Amino acid sequence: MSIERVTILGSTGSIGVQTLDIIRRNPERFQVSSLVAHSRWEELARQAREFNAESVVIGDKSLYPQLKEALADTPTKVLAGEEDINFVAESYRSDTVVNALVGYAGLHPTALAIESGKRIALANKETLVVGGDIIMAAARRKGVEIMPIDSEHSAIMQCLEGERREAIRNLIITCSGGALRHLSIEELEGVTPEMALKHPQWSMGAKITIDSATLVNKGFEVIEARWLFDIEAERIKVVIHPQSIVHSMVEFTDGSVKAQLGNADMHTPISYALLYPERATRAVEHFSILDYPTLSFAEVDRVKYPALDIAYECLRRGGTAACTMNGANEVAVAAFLNHKCRYHDIVGAIRYALDNASFEAHPTLDDYDAANRESRELARRYIKM
Ligand code: NDP
Ligand code: MG
Repeated sequence: MSIERVTILGSTGSIGVQTLDIIRRNPERFQVSSLVAHSRWEELARQAREFNAESVVIGDKSLYPQLKEALADTPTKVLAGEEDINFVAESYRSDTVVNALVGYAGLHPTALAIESGKRIALANKETLVVGGDIIMAAARRKGVEIMPIDSEHSAIMQCLEGERREAIRNLIITCSGGALRHLSIEELEGVTPEMALKHPQWSMGAKITIDSATLVNKGFEVIEARWLFDIEAERIKVVIHPQSIVHSMVEFTDGSVKAQLGNADMHTPISYALLYPERATRAVEHFSILDYPTLSFAEVDRVKYPALDIAYECLRRGGTAACTMNGANEVAVAAFLNHKCRYHDIVGAIRYALDNASFEAHPTLDDYDAANRESRELARRYIKM
């Protein structure tokens, strides 16, 4: 088997570090091509040395001198800035691009990697939330495989193995309910970032942990599933499942429901995306169903979590609507994390942006850039930043 060259966008983050764990365990299978981060240059330099990376890119250009100096005695090529991130995603020699960037920043690198025919392992769900229609069309045109890293979509993909499209009735996405699930709407008013960052099951980056608390993340996952599996929004259901053991399910026309279960550990979906159609031999600790004698499921409280219905609304509206939701959310989450707005302002900013943004029904990538800029501006106005 030939060695596969892997580029990791966001190598210093939660998904990036776990991806490198899997590469470390499979040296005969994978070799690192490029590593990309934004600010953690020391960690990036350490990773580059350990994995003998061909190149590294630091998003924040002001950190280039430090990184260059730290790798001066190595053959690793040091690059910086957004253009160089796009350059390595598109042009640098690699077979697979793992996109583990956060937010809108992931869209263009995914699009460029697809155009150059690279296989995509996609954690950056915002790519599909914003531009799912053109991204999936480009992947089909180029014959490029997009492997989801998001655990719910990995679960659905596993349930769909060997099944015919016509046999699918519904996709059922599970949702832990996030860190604040025991609080009432009134109690949510006083929530601090510190409270929202305590996710009960998953240890993840800050932005997705807040998105999990508001259920914006679950709304995004519905949009992601709509594009990834080419299925109408009405056939994508969400259920609360506090234990995070069933990672998602597929209901078939004969009444069968297939589910994928396992520990809440991202090593499993990451290794599935990288090794498919093979499976890792020791991805995570052994899972025993006996440890979970009770698995429970419940309806989502749509009043407490308005973000979920807003995501469905964006799918109905199509065009730039979901891009607008995403841009406003990014600004509001960053503001919330910096104590610049309250918890409810996150959905407030999304609503305000959707109600005031211009709308493009058949957007190009440039139109998405414009919609993203506009929605961020609207969110800043709403939060009075
Ligand atoms: P983290 O915040 O932990 O990591 C993000 C990574 O991207 C870091 O390496 C960061 O660099 C880098 N980065 C961020 N912005 C930029 C930028 N503008 N340019 C270059 N690099 C950038 O995030 P996660 O790993 O948690 O999440 C990554 C993606 O995966 C998100 O889209 C998230 O929704 C998705 N996801 C994550 C899951 C998880 O378990 N964490 C589960 C399912 C999906 P630096 O650290 O150096 O600043
Ligand atoms: Mg998920």
